[in-house]
Amino acid sequence: DSPQWREQERRFLEGWEHRLDVATLSRRQLPVVDPNRAAHFLNEADSDWTQATTRRHVDAAIANWTPAMPPQPVELDTTLDRAVSAAQRWSSESVAQRAEVLHHAAQVMQQRRFESIAEMQQTAKKTILEADSEISEAIDFARYYAEHFPNQPGIVSQSLGVVVITPPWNFPYAIPCGGVLAALMAGNAVILKPAPETTDIAWRLVEQLWEAGVPRDVLQFYPCADGETGKRLITDPRVNVVVLTGAYQTARLFQTWRPSLRLYAETSGKNALVITAQSDRELAVKDLVRSAFGHSGQKCSAASLAIVEAEVYDDPIFQRQLHDAAASLQVGAATDRTSVITPLIRAPEPALLRALTQLDAGESWLLEPQSSPDDPCLWSPGIRLGVRPGSWFHKTECFGPVLGVMRAENLAQAIAWQNDVDFGLTAGIHSLDEKEQLQWRKSVQAGNLYINRPITGAIVQRQPFGGWKKSSIGPGAKAGGPNYVSLFARWSDASSDV
Ligand code: GLU
Repeated sequence: DSPQWREQERRFLEGWEHRLDVATLSRRQLPVVDPNRAAHFLNEADSDWTQATTRRHVDAAIANWTPAMPPQPVELDTTLDRAVSAAQRWSSESVAQRAEVLHHAAQVMQQRRFESIAEMQQTAKKTILEADSEISEAIDFARYYAEHFPNQPGIVSQSLGVVVITPPWNFPYAIPCGGVLAALMAGNAVILKPAPETTDIAWRLVEQLWEAGVPRDVLQFYPCADGETGKRLITDPRVNVVVLTGAYQTARLFQTWRPSLRLYAETSGKNALVITAQSDRELAVKDLVRSAFGHSGQKCSAASLAIVEAEVYDDPIFQRQLHDAAASLQVGAATDRTSVITPLIRAPEPALLRALTQLDAGESWLLEPQSSPDDPCLWSPGIRLGVRPGSWFHKTECFGPVLGVMRAENLAQAIAWQNDVDFGLTAGIHSLDEKEQLQWRKSVQAGNLYINRPITGAIVQRQPFGGWKKSSIGPGAKAGGPNYVSLFARWSDASSDV
């Protein structure tokens, strides 16, 4: 119940994507469902926020936005040599000094919030609310790592050396912070290799961290294509650790390039939200739609499947509310403040295109996705009914605005289908019945479990983020959790008899 969490809870209640808790939000009474009520589940949340005074600051930042000018990278050998000597110097600073720099970083990120939002809106096609919550998460990482570095008498740490961070484009600000700040806190030098799609926002972040007091050789910016130069970076023996958030195949590729690589990877997901007959159905629809279509479904954590108990699935009111909720989402450019569904980072790749345009046996559209005639990246949300166990959509990560719905006879069957995928990143259940919640918690195979809330939007410290099975490669510790910073150091017990 820290002030920080209270603040997060306040934000959650104010705007979509501001998150509450893994803890059950059970409402004891089932709501009266009004079949005539048009669903407006996501758009309603925006209104308070856009009235807020912060709107003026965001508007000003967007009006003043000019493209970032990331520099050309320095030659790779020079970058690596610099990192090796910087690591020695930085690791000899005290833990308290490094923590102070991280606290300062949190302040600078807060001061630059509106600039960063403008950058993300312009270049990563994020809505303002999605961008805003990312910055909050980044600030939380800085404070959390600064305050939770293991500090026990008799135990000393040494940093690992040089850490390469390779974040994805879908959270171009928060995810790099999750790795960069942990590695810095433990005394390593960091080379940030941004995702090519979101180089500019990564560059703004690096500038902010330098401004906060991180020395320029301790954090270096190294934009490069994912091909040959990327391979040289990953395989160079001066690099001690690589942190990747990206596709499972990319993590495997890194391992093929360098079998001895110390790799901490958070990879793909195929996540489902189970909705039982004992759920608050309106709340379930609202959370499902958020989880499926936030940032147009481009989150590893997104709900790609809803596994719905037959009584709810067959209820025309449930189907209508789900349809109306998704259909009510405004689809448009990120620069249009009313948009909730914004363009994909690129035109759909084959798996996503198939998911958006083709049905398999037994499936039908509850809501058929449409592409914009003006923009091949802009797709309205789609909902496929009748997804069958073992089918292509049941098993395949698609990473876009399309949700599949499965009809389960009972909770046991729903859990079995939820688990019957290669990945295990996020999972959710909507049920007000504590016995059902317990049954589910004991058997579901995923790293982040959410009960009666959306399945995206993990909060630093409360919900350390990371998965099981093919959703994770490496030691499995989670960013924003108690063991993460320790992974970037070697530990020894120092004792003496005197
Ligand atoms: N941490 C994000 C969330 O909880 C997801 C990150 C990702 O997509 O990789 O929604």
